Amino acid sequence: MNDSDTLQRFLFDSGDVRGELVQLDSALQEALDKHDYPPALAALLGESLAATVLLSATLKMNGRVALQARGTGSVSLLVAECNDQRGVRGIIHGSADNDQQQLGELLGQGQLTIILEPENGQRYQGIVPLESPNLSGCLQDYFTRSEQLSTFILLACNGQQAAGLMLQKMPGSTRDSDLWERVTQLAATTSQQELLTLAPDELLHRLFHEEQLQRYPTQPVAFYCHCSRERTENALHTMGAQECYEMLAKESTIAVNCQFCNQHYRFDQSDLERLFGPPERH
Ligand SMILES: [Zn+2]
Repeated sequence: MNDSDTLQRFLFDSGDVRGELVQLDSALQEALDKHDYPPALAALLGESLAATVLLSATLKMNGRVALQARGTGSVSLLVAECNDQRGVRGIIHGSADNDQQQLGELLGQGQLTIILEPENGQRYQGIVPLESPNLSGCLQDYFTRSEQLSTFILLACNGQQAAGLMLQKMPGSTRDSDLWERVTQLAATTSQQELLTLAPDELLHRLFHEEQLQRYPTQPVAFYCHCSRERTENALHTMGAQECYEMLAKESTIAVNCQFCNQHYRFDQSDLERLFGPPERH
């Protein structure tokens, strides 16, 4: 068993194909432990988290990459996020009693979007077509059609670990015209088990030992939630004084629970007075 949470980026020397390999272990377990997900939902969340790490590694920006879906099938909500420090968090809402459901069935008439949120700059949103049976195929379609980048993606999750392998042909590569064909055919021989359990070095060697491969240093990936008391206060502020004081009148404190990390934030009368001033007397 490979107990690590890492991202390995690599380049093929003889041509312009880049690759990434991510494996999530305790980062995934931290995201799953806080909930009691059915296996099919845990697997979709795991694959989605692995995918956001792969996507984040292709971007030269500070900020967050998210996969988000509001579904009308078994899944009503899916959020998976990765920041530029490779911190991941995610949630999934729904029920699924059938492990064999295709992604389109899980999401129903819903929509899956890729969201890029740069720290400085415009938020970008792209719609992922749901025509392939699984997330790997749908994301592959997205890159090929919307971004016009030949892309290979393989994702896997067994409920304990999640992993992903991505290859992307860089625009304008001409040095080795067969390279893309060769490396994607090799990559397609990877089994889910190998992707999840082989150490990155071992898997890359097994697949590509006949190619010239240049590896970047591995990067750690971890569960990370950016919720805070201050952000929660901002959310209460947006709700407004009247609603907050009404909530406080029903309960002795306002309890806000972060769905991603299960952190509890409590606000009492003195907190609200600090936020809004004293309640208006009638
Ligand atoms: Zn949180």
